[in-house]
Amino acid sequence: MMIKWVIGAYLVKKSWVLVLVQCFGAALLYAQSPVKLVLIPEHPRLGEPVTVGMAAAGEQEDVTGLFQAVLINTQGQRLTKASFFNLTVDKEGTSLKVAILAVPCTARPGSAVIQVEHQGGPIGRIDLTIENRTFVSEEISLDQGNTDLRTIPDPQKTAESSILWGIISRTGTEVYTLGPFTAPVSSTRRTSFFGDRRIFRYVDGSQASSIHAGIDYGVPRGTAVRSCAEGRVVLARSRIVTGNSVIIEHLPGVYSLYYHLDHIAVQEGTMVRTGTLLGESGATGLATGPHLHWEIRVAGENTDPDAFVSRPILDKAALLGNSN
Ligand SMILES: [Zn+2]
Repeated sequence: MMIKWVIGAYLVKKSWVLVLVQCFGAALLYAQSPVKLVLIPEHPRLGEPVTVGMAAAGEQEDVTGLFQAVLINTQGQRLTKASFFNLTVDKEGTSLKVAILAVPCTARPGSAVIQVEHQGGPIGRIDLTIENRTFVSEEISLDQGNTDLRTIPDPQKTAESSILWGIISRTGTEVYTLGPFTAPVSSTRRTSFFGDRRIFRYVDGSQASSIHAGIDYGVPRGTAVRSCAEGRVVLARSRIVTGNSVIIEHLPGVYSLYYHLDHIAVQEGTMVRTGTLLGESGATGLATGPHLHWEIRVAGENTDPDAFVSRPILDKAALLGNSN
């Protein structure tokens, strides 16, 4: 694997250094030193996750504080961001700071930058190229029940939505898995794909557009649904729109979601291994037939699940640059 270490040295203005000395003595160590960054992969496709590893050159004190990786397009827009966490990468206890963030499936392909920030100030950057891909367009006609589910305002729906966003926007510190993930069902029959551009047609003839945030497996009711990786169950309950739903936390900011289950077999707060039975597939919530909706969120952004299956999201050797 080609891994390019980039020296993201930032020359800091004298006045800014003085402010840093006064306010963030420890942070100055990072501001003065070249920041080594590694990006995997260097050419992510739309919708894929990227892993950013960071080590400061030379001896460094452990600096606490908020480090963030921010994906910025050529127009200067901040598309996604993720917090760094500590990852021990070898037997000697070497620790890197690592962030996992998503390239939105709605981003513009081409050049972009990941900027590393500490306490809101830039300390390094690495260029990347976002590769294009095509997404399926589909139209889905909804019956009266499913139309009502999407269109009638409901305080319970709003409350459930804010609980879900509270969970998937949280960045913890636990590394439960290094990956790669495995698919949650043995079937390969997919009825919808990640990033599908959807038009929902309602019974009154009106329509709404949306982007499909995960993969739908067209499996019969009662099919075993298994955890795609080690983690902790952070949600296992019935929701109005997504039916019986399970969410597993795998890594800081990385969650897998399983929707429309007929039956839930795990409880919130329990630990699961790869392949642990989470429940059985069904058609609860907004569904036009039995299927499993499998989704992965990275710092709140929907991300292509296949990218987590094809490679380990935390490849320690690659992060250390050993694979060169
Ligand atoms: Zn779906």
